[in-house]
Amino acid sequence: MELTLWTYEGPPHVGAMRIAASMEGVHYVLHAPQGDTYADLLFTMIERRDKRPPVTYTTFQARDLGGDTAELVKRTIAQAVERFQPEALLVGESCTAELIQDQPGALAAGMDLGGIPMVSLELPAYSKKENWGAAETFYQLVRGLLKEQVPPPGSPKILPTRWRQEGRRPRVNLLGPSLLGFRCRDDVREITRLLGEHGVDVSVVAPLGARPADLLRIPSADANICLYPEVAAPVCSWLERSFGQATVKTVPIGVAATTAFLAELTTLLGLEPAEGTQTESERRSRLPWYSRSVDSTYLTGKRVFIFGDATHAIAAARIASQELGFAVVGLGTYSRELAREVRAAAKELGLEALITDDYLAVEKAMAEAAPELVLGTQMERHSAKRLGIPCAVISTPLHVQDVPARYSPQMGWEGANVIFDAWVHPLMMGLEEHLIGMFRHDFEFVDGHRSHLGDGAPSVSPVADAMQDGVASAAAPFGVAVATPPAAGASPHEPVWTTDGETELHKIPFFVRGKVRRNTESFARERGIGEITAETLYDAKAHFSR
Ligand code: SF4
Repeated sequence: MELTLWTYEGPPHVGAMRIAASMEGVHYVLHAPQGDTYADLLFTMIERRDKRPPVTYTTFQARDLGGDTAELVKRTIAQAVERFQPEALLVGESCTAELIQDQPGALAAGMDLGGIPMVSLELPAYSKKENWGAAETFYQLVRGLLKEQVPPPGSPKILPTRWRQEGRRPRVNLLGPSLLGFRCRDDVREITRLLGEHGVDVSVVAPLGARPADLLRIPSADANICLYPEVAAPVCSWLERSFGQATVKTVPIGVAATTAFLAELTTLLGLEPAEGTQTESERRSRLPWYSRSVDSTYLTGKRVFIFGDATHAIAAARIASQELGFAVVGLGTYSRELAREVRAAAKELGLEALITDDYLAVEKAMAEAAPELVLGTQMERHSAKRLGIPCAVISTPLHVQDVPARYSPQMGWEGANVIFDAWVHPLMMGLEEHLIGMFRHDFEFVDGHRSHLGDGAPSVSPVADAMQDGVASAAAPFGVAVATPPAAGASPHEPVWTTDGETELHKIPFFVRGKVRRNTESFARERGIGEITAETLYDAKAHFSR
């Protein structure tokens, strides 16, 4: 058992629903108790789809358990096939149905379905989660449909440069975009346009918008682009093994990553190298100039904490450190399947990756790192709000506002523009930051105030000030100096802030104050200093800036 209040991912059958709902002509029969239809709302309300997801539930009730639930499964499958006439059928179970062990896939295999391809899904709900469920469903569906096309072992591979001999433009598949993914709708548009400008056609986009017949065309492309490894990595690696079809693995989120993506694609397909790719990024994305312009100088070294799915967290860490000049002070993911990649990215930044699906552990790490900006999921938005830290959402899980009406990709050149605006927006603007640092007694522009957000100061005092040992304490109002008594149960050797020390501490801009507080306390602790005065604070400052 694990006490859980919030979860980053749903159960794996929600991942399977994402695949079915993203596609056309696929129907999913889900053996599930009454009430599991709640997942429909993810599609009709968050994705704001104008139709129900293509899912038929068996919706068994307590009284059904005394009877023949297997018969209920068979009846539901027969009715769904007759009513929806799908081109491919998925059959699986939710968590509760897994316990009853009716084996709906085996039951469907024994039925006459009129020749419709049927995929029996084995999704272990007690050990795997939503993204794994989506990846497994997509993989099983593609494998099931393509198994008759798989060439015998030893056959020649699909040559990525064969388009030349065939006298046509190169073509690729975009694999991985799905409903309830982060900005997939607009990423597909952005990358399709980018590829078109480089003379590359898109053959199949899947699962988003594809029909089963489209999946049958996957091997006719020269290469696959794995846009979202959480969903498409197993499929891409199976296509490599079975058809020798190469995969472009760089995910084009950020200017440098988009440049690297184009370089990888160009080399793989044997295209003429684009003239001055660097120039293209300068020309096509405004991020490089915006982040170089003098107004962005104050962004340099801002401390940022990053958490999300592996793909978006890694991309964000590279953009933050290499393109915006932020200092990444924390990096983590809930995607256990891609933990190795996140660990490697964290190592490049001299950090240890946080791999967890416990939002409280993330909140604690966030508080300890005392960042000035959090880039995370919807959960981190809540945690950051509690701690009074500016935050932008970069990854699923998301709320409805992250499925916006306007064009908002994350990938490609325009994606970098969207990212620049979205990440800088929650920060206090440069002039205000400077003025609040200089004049602390304004009745309106108080410490922590961000007037451009219209609602004034954060709802609670900034974490920087409020967090001690990772636990939020009732903080003093802005600008009011109080001696901090030792916390109940704290070690008797914990240093105590004097009034004069606190007053000095409050002269430090709020967004770095937490870091200064922590550094000063550890400085005092190491030297056995019991009381932190203004002098101790400046000694610590001198020590750490050495
Ligand atoms: S079967 Fe699974 S998804 Fe459905 S209510 Fe129970 S725990 Fe939730």
